[in-house]
Amino acid sequence: MAANVPLIKKLCTLQTRLTLNQHQTVMLVYGRKAKLLAAETYTGKCTNCGMLATVQISLVQKYLHVFWLPFVPIGKTGVSKCSNCKQVLKLKEMPVAYTDVYDVLKQQVKTPLYMYSGAVVLAIIISAAVYEDIQNGKKNTLLITAPQKGDVFEIKTEEGQYTLYKVDGIHGDTVFVRQNQYETDKESGLSGLKQKGDTAYTRETMELLKQTLKKMLDDGEIIDVDRQ
Ligand SMILES: [Zn+2]
Repeated sequence: MAANVPLIKKLCTLQTRLTLNQHQTVMLVYGRKAKLLAAETYTGKCTNCGMLATVQISLVQKYLHVFWLPFVPIGKTGVSKCSNCKQVLKLKEMPVAYTDVYDVLKQQVKTPLYMYSGAVVLAIIISAAVYEDIQNGKKNTLLITAPQKGDVFEIKTEEGQYTLYKVDGIHGDTVFVRQNQYETDKESGLSGLKQKGDTAYTRETMELLKQTLKKMLDDGEIIDVDRQ
C-alpha cells in the first residue's frame, strides 16, 4: 500500500499549500484616519483677508483603523479654514490667535472611548481564543484518559510532520491504534488526511498505554483528539 510514499507526501504537501492559500486571501486592511471632534469660530479677523469671524478652527482626532474600525487614537491636531478667502492652515501654520482657540477646544474635548473599539474587539477575540484553548485542553484530557474506539488523535511527529492515529480497541490500560499511512508537513493539512477515510490507516495495530497517551498529550505529541 505504502509503495510510493514520497509521491504521497508530495501530494499531501500540495494539498496543504492550497488550503493555506485559501486562508491567505483574507488581507489585513489598516491605516491612519482622522475624525472631526469639534469646531469653533474664531471671533477675530482672518489674518489673511481681514474678515471678521470667518475662520473656523477644528479639532481633529487622528487614529489607527483596522478594517475601518478605530483601533487606537494617535493624537489630536487642528485645522483652520476661512469661509471668505478659503485659506486653510494646519496647526503648525496657525497664528497664535488661532492656536489659542485650538488649545481651549483641546482641553474641553476628550478622546472618545470608541477610538479604542478595535483594540477592545481584539482583546475579546484573544480572550475567547485563550478560553477555547483551555476548554479544548480540558476536553482532550478527558477524552484521552477514557479513549473509545473510533477516536482520532492528531499527532505531531518528532520530524515535525503531522499524521493521525485511530483507536481500534481498548483492553484494560492498553489502547490499540492504527496509524494513518499519510503525513503532512502542516497542521492544517490534517483535515485532508481525515477525508481519506478508514482505508488510509494501517491494518496492523500499535499498542499504547493510556498513561503513554496522556504523556504524549502533555508533551504536545498529541495535539488534538477527535471523537465523533
Ligand atoms: Zn480669510
